Amino acid sequence: MLELSTPIKFVKRIGERIAEPLAARGVETVEDLLYHLPFRYEDRLNPQPIESLVPGAMASFIGEVRGSVLLRTRSGPIFEMTLGQGLGTVKCMWFHGTYLKDKFKPGQMVAIYGKLEPSRSALASGIPNKFKMIQPQFEIVSDPGKAPDAEFAMLELGRIVPVYESLGGTTPWGAKLTSRWMRRVVWSIFEELDKSTSPASIAQVETLPPALLTRLNLPSRIAALRAVHFPGPGTSIADLAAAATPAHRRLIFEELFYLELGLELKRRRMKLRAGTAFSTGSAVREALKQVLPFHPTAAQKRVLAEIVADMRRPQPMRRLLQGDVGSGKTIVAMQAALVAIENGYQAALMAPTEILATQHYLSARKLLGKAISPRTGKPYRIALLTGSLDPATKRATQGHIMRGEADLVIGTHALQEDKADFANLGLVIVDEQHRFGVQQRFKLMRKPGADGVVTDPDVLAMTATPIPRTLALTIYGDLDVSVIDEMPPGRTPIVTRRTTEERAHEVWEFVRKQVALGRQAYLVYPIIEGANDDQPELDFAHDAPQEPEAASPEPPAKSSGKRTTTTRAKKSTKPEALFEKPKLRSAVEMYEALRTGALSGLRLGLLHGRLSADDKEVTMARFQRGEIDVLIATTVIEVGVDVANASVMVIDHAERFGLAQMHQLRGRVGRGAAKSYCILMTGIPPGGKVTEQADARLNAMVATQNGFELAELDLAQRGPGEFFGTRQSGLPEFRVANLLRDRAVLELAKAEAERFAAAPDPALTPDEIAAVWDRLKQQWQRRYGLMEA
Ligand code: ADP
Ligand code: MG
Repeated sequence: MLELSTPIKFVKRIGERIAEPLAARGVETVEDLLYHLPFRYEDRLNPQPIESLVPGAMASFIGEVRGSVLLRTRSGPIFEMTLGQGLGTVKCMWFHGTYLKDKFKPGQMVAIYGKLEPSRSALASGIPNKFKMIQPQFEIVSDPGKAPDAEFAMLELGRIVPVYESLGGTTPWGAKLTSRWMRRVVWSIFEELDKSTSPASIAQVETLPPALLTRLNLPSRIAALRAVHFPGPGTSIADLAAAATPAHRRLIFEELFYLELGLELKRRRMKLRAGTAFSTGSAVREALKQVLPFHPTAAQKRVLAEIVADMRRPQPMRRLLQGDVGSGKTIVAMQAALVAIENGYQAALMAPTEILATQHYLSARKLLGKAISPRTGKPYRIALLTGSLDPATKRATQGHIMRGEADLVIGTHALQEDKADFANLGLVIVDEQHRFGVQQRFKLMRKPGADGVVTDPDVLAMTATPIPRTLALTIYGDLDVSVIDEMPPGRTPIVTRRTTEERAHEVWEFVRKQVALGRQAYLVYPIIEGANDDQPELDFAHDAPQEPEAASPEPPAKSSGKRTTTTRAKKSTKPEALFEKPKLRSAVEMYEALRTGALSGLRLGLLHGRLSADDKEVTMARFQRGEIDVLIATTVIEVGVDVANASVMVIDHAERFGLAQMHQLRGRVGRGAAKSYCILMTGIPPGGKVTEQADARLNAMVATQNGFELAELDLAQRGPGEFFGTRQSGLPEFRVANLLRDRAVLELAKAEAERFAAAPDPALTPDEIAAVWDRLKQQWQRRYGLMEA
């Protein structure tokens, strides 16, 4: 008797020899196979008459074989087969199609799918009934020469037919596992399941409480699986294509419901844990006021209030602070840190790069340097801990931290080393959270205090990469979210322009003019040095050498078809291949070239990830003090760098940068009152034009400065998995759901998960409720193996 958990080798037509390669693809049980859903459908119930076909589009068509021929041409054999329907014909062509030579016989009915093109004769005659298709997918649906396989004939014709992505693998006699094979196997599975389905076993297969399904008007699981594979006659083809049938929605909902339920549970669990209830008396408020260099914006006040409200509660805070580049998150973070410090606790601020950690350290010293703590009557003690400190200094700093002699500790990954114990850690702030993997984000909280007791510090994660809501709901679904949606006053919009390398001289002239006005500029290059150097910036070079940075280490020439790091564009297989052997300008080379050339006489600085931490620090400090006019850099300056006098950001080879990167880079300017400019200079690739995708990114940069809008486009271009770059994103892998497509179902799943977790639904029996929690436990561990903190 077949069940969903039955290994597929017991399924008819599969057996040991097919099961093995399928297992390698993660298909081990009947359930796994049933979740290999069709990726498109063909309407063979209402096949289109030939006159209604529209050239230029993908189309499916059924016709009768009229004839075929193998042509020998200079560029190789071409196999041609003509399908007819009445007077109309579609000529199908396969290059190197010798293998098809004996495939088709006149009179067979064949279904094809491919891009429809008008044939030359149809163009000439103006009658739209003659077409051609290059390399179509095909299926012989009936063969007068053979007795029809009656059992399955109805799977191929007279219905909406599912088409499957190949699972790879072959039958023992060497045939491919085609869509037709899938259909037959899946059909047999349902037949078997039908035989064995008593009401009890149906209930066993069900994963959502019936009352919930009824309320949401969703089909049962088994019914949904069946309808997704074999849609009923009335099903809308458009809904099928959009995965929007009730059956699809049911499967998507189930998947997202359990994800959201798990996240909701995590949130609730966190709220049950013991944290610190900070108090905010007048002394604390006095301390906060003392350090504020300007009037906070309304948005800054609001998010601070949200953060402080969390901190006052005796449960640990888990809050994500989102705010576009330059929206002023740092000061909010510093204020939160002061709340902890004034309560007698330590605060830690963790940054993803040494440059950023150092900068935070310097600005914290500037901000708090002269302030006196109302609590202790002494100045605040601030420490910097990074991986590149010399061992003695590092040990000394660790000692201060351990003995509670540092109030605010700023650092990189080094803060997470086991030796960096805190005496009394009350608050952890993670800046540019998305740069750390999701898994890493809260390691800091597990450290025992001096008394050996593990307390949960509050955690404030900050990110300047606006996260599209669908992603925020999944990756950060267990966090509370605050958003700074307002810029500090006095900012003028940044003027963004596109230009090409041919007009570089104009760019250099412009940079010179700005410098003459007393401003500073950044020039950013995609690589550090050398035409073959596709090494990305090694932000974590000192802190985590074991961690490969977000890039393919092989030189670009070899990575045919693969993404290169800096472009990070999805679907880049073909057009982006134009860049495979680029002569890329690099930071080091251009520093030399410009110093003696177009920018001679200006004070240039060079900054990239391969410099020592000391050199980086010195260069940054000089730029900050205005001793460097033009900083030539890589994306190492992407996050957080804050020099208000800089008014020009030139991004060279802008076609190679991702949207989020460019947006972050642009955010380095426009931080002061001066009018600021972002110049996106594109190289001219061999094809003469940048790719369509790059073009869309550059135009979007010119069109908007709104980070959320750019993030949505970025998500659409790269897809959820790549959104945060190649560094592990913590994104669960879905079987059915697609975050780009299923936003509405995601919102529904979240609402239902919250409702379910909040209180037992009186419509459900205790058993049904227990079954949901059981299933959650299984699924959470097996599928997401996640972040149980
Ligand atoms: P981000 O959110 O990108 O980390 P920062 O905290 O670095 O932004 O702030 C950007 C710049 O704006 C800094 O120079 C900061 O001093 C300034 N700033 C922040 N808040 C205000 C405010 N309320 N009024 C004026 N300037 C502000
Ligand atoms: Mg910042």
